[in-house]
Amino acid sequence: MSLFDKKQQEPFISSYKALDKRIICPNCGNDKFLVRDVLLNTPGMTFFGLDWANRNATALICTSCTRIEWYFEKPAAVD
Ligand SMILES: [Zn+2]
Repeated sequence: MSLFDKKQQEPFISSYKALDKRIICPNCGNDKFLVRDVLLNTPGMTFFGLDWANRNATALICTSCTRIEWYFEKPAAVD
């Protein structure tokens, strides 16, 4: 699994909201994130019997401090 796999979609930087609340980086206060869809199905999870978790998650990567926030459901982009 690579967050920066060239075969995935191009990076898309925007602001996002979850439950109508704007997502702010808890580390630096930035509100711009790079979003990537990441497959949760990894050899490690299969090894530990966590196949039930095999699906996509969304990673929001802070464009300022690079902290990664994980969301099971993709947050909505805001202008
Ligand atoms: Zn940040």
